[in-house]
Amino acid sequence: MSSTGQATGGVDSLLQEHRQFAPPVEAAARAHIKSMAEYERLYRLSLEDPARFWGERAGELHWFKKWTRVLEWNAPDAKWFVGGKTNLSYNCLDRQVQAGLGDQTALIWEGEPVAPGASYEIRRLTYRDLLRETCRFANVLKSLGVKKGDVVTLYMPMVPELAIAMLACARIGAPHSIIFGGFSASAIRDRVEDAGSRIIVTADGGWRRGKVVPLKHTVDEALNLTDKVRTVVVFQRTGQDTPMKSGRDHWWHELMATARDTCPCEEMDSEDLLFILYTSGSTGKPKGIMHTTGGYMVYTYLTSKYVFDLHGYGENGQATGPVDLHWCTADIGWVTGHSYVIYGVLPNRVPTLLYEGAPNFPDQDRFWDMIQRHRVTIFYTAPTAIRAFMRWGDQWPARHDLSSLRILGTVGEPINPEAWIWYRKHIGKDHCPIVDTWWQTETGGHMITPLPGATPCSPGSCTRPFFGIDAAIVSKEGQEMPPNAGGFLVMRKPWPGMLRGIVGDRQRFVQTYWSQIPGCYFTGDGARRDPNGNFWVMGRVDDVINVAGHRLGTAEVESALVSHPRVAEAAVVGIPHDLKGTAIAAFVTLKAGQQPSEALKEELAKHVVKEIGAIARPEQIRFTESLPKTRSGKIMRRLLRELATSGSVKGDTTTLEDFSVLAKLRESDEG
Ligand code: ATP
Ligand code: MG
Repeated sequence: MSSTGQATGGVDSLLQEHRQFAPPVEAAARAHIKSMAEYERLYRLSLEDPARFWGERAGELHWFKKWTRVLEWNAPDAKWFVGGKTNLSYNCLDRQVQAGLGDQTALIWEGEPVAPGASYEIRRLTYRDLLRETCRFANVLKSLGVKKGDVVTLYMPMVPELAIAMLACARIGAPHSIIFGGFSASAIRDRVEDAGSRIIVTADGGWRRGKVVPLKHTVDEALNLTDKVRTVVVFQRTGQDTPMKSGRDHWWHELMATARDTCPCEEMDSEDLLFILYTSGSTGKPKGIMHTTGGYMVYTYLTSKYVFDLHGYGENGQATGPVDLHWCTADIGWVTGHSYVIYGVLPNRVPTLLYEGAPNFPDQDRFWDMIQRHRVTIFYTAPTAIRAFMRWGDQWPARHDLSSLRILGTVGEPINPEAWIWYRKHIGKDHCPIVDTWWQTETGGHMITPLPGATPCSPGSCTRPFFGIDAAIVSKEGQEMPPNAGGFLVMRKPWPGMLRGIVGDRQRFVQTYWSQIPGCYFTGDGARRDPNGNFWVMGRVDDVINVAGHRLGTAEVESALVSHPRVAEAAVVGIPHDLKGTAIAAFVTLKAGQQPSEALKEELAKHVVKEIGAIARPEQIRFTESLPKTRSGKIMRRLLRELATSGSVKGDTTTLEDFSVLAKLRESDEG
């Protein structure tokens, strides 16, 4: 069996008490990285000789012109693969067709049923199809006057045309700025103006839980708020009535009908801008993060290959064993979708699955049904989704054959050990390694993560740094902390996928990431490292609670609450307290059928004391039907902190998913 049954012990924390799980033997057999010894050796090499390590890996991809230097580093500015010329669209598509894979599947798309009872729409695009459509849309963009360097805004549902549009942008060197389809008109206005974008590609709508999300309508509203946008291209997905403004709006299918099938790739400099992406806004006003071509390409390619242990077709177009099917459930509008639905996966010659709708439509087993039907091998999702699956019940996955799965992944927030164990048991059937990947929009790709064939895992720990990543826990002064002591999570060396700046705001870039800790990239997260060298992310530094001089991570206290059998989800924040300085307020969502009561509050408080210690005892516990989350599913603690402290919320709520949640919380507050 895979579990070593080894307890880490020693620290009075719930997180540390869980067992370690060694990689299952089957996972290691064919893995790219098969053992910790191999990881350690390559990790050391990657830090000691980054030029050699990254140079060799970059050589696995196509370059029109090879770089002259791997890295030029003048903190905080990095240039990777200096002087190299390449194109990411070429590495995703042309290269595969040239290797003889033209007829192999590159992308499988599944839509929502368009009418009640209708069957699912499924589209399979081969590398040749995807290349042809990408070329055609690249020609459309050119015919609309888009040139290298012009920012193209994409506001689309999860349909293949979103992938086609982004690959077309990359092909002609027009950076894209993708805005998640759940954002409002004012969010579009802000991002379009901030990025200086004059063209938007959208759709008449997308399907979600059987309803149409009217994207074009929202774009029209946004364009009433700004006069910067000259051109709108509208893909027809739903066929609903859509007013078109003459001279400004164009139908996708009409433009595509006459577009040529071939379009040469722009030879992009390694440091040419590839895309802009606004962060989730969990901590404040979203930042327009800039990523460039060469470094991001190499970094997402390599993290995809090693972290998901991807096995695709070889250089000669032949596969040496079963070819994976990768499913990352994130919307392409988030960085996770950019890197691990499209850009990291396609250059590995592994097909990717795209799904348009919600996990609970038409039923709560939609994901498991899709895994079974498509024979998905790698599944990557978020803790918020996993906690929802748990709440819905074990019976949903139990109905399906999930035996095709071999690796599971998670990203976005710290995963509660409770959820990790559930995921392993009910989805992975105790034989799939789980990669808990810590990273950020700013980092481009995975930073701290297990490798599925090598790394022993403790639930709740994102384990070890990826190759080339010099992660450390330091004090405010930049001093490295001893094992198990909490501190700031920083990176002491540059890496290829790192952000190159914030759009139009050099000062914010320097201030946010490079000024807190001398000489280091500051992540904004607090963490600690256990004596085995594993990292445990405690939550955002701004959220860390200091109770009577003891620093407590939000993740720890929340995990303790979630480990109670009646709790589904929890968020904790610090509130001012006369004696302790700060006390803990907990917002708790109960499992289906559980009733809130004073007695349960007391029981939960005692439970936290038992799991962590008296210091972590919540001063207040409030029950709520749901928690305020960003549209990417992350708990917005800053709003809860405001609410718990002042009774109302004044901060930026533009990325909040559901405003009614706040209203409900306020009521529960008053009640
Ligand atoms: P903003 O920067 O606008 O406040 P955001 O930080 O939520 O938004 P992202 O870049 O999407 O935007 O998220 C990165 C953050 O998510 C990390 O800094 C970390 O706090 C959290 N995170 C991501 N993955 C993990 C993980 N595996 N474990 C713990 N935390 C994670
Ligand atoms: Mg952030």
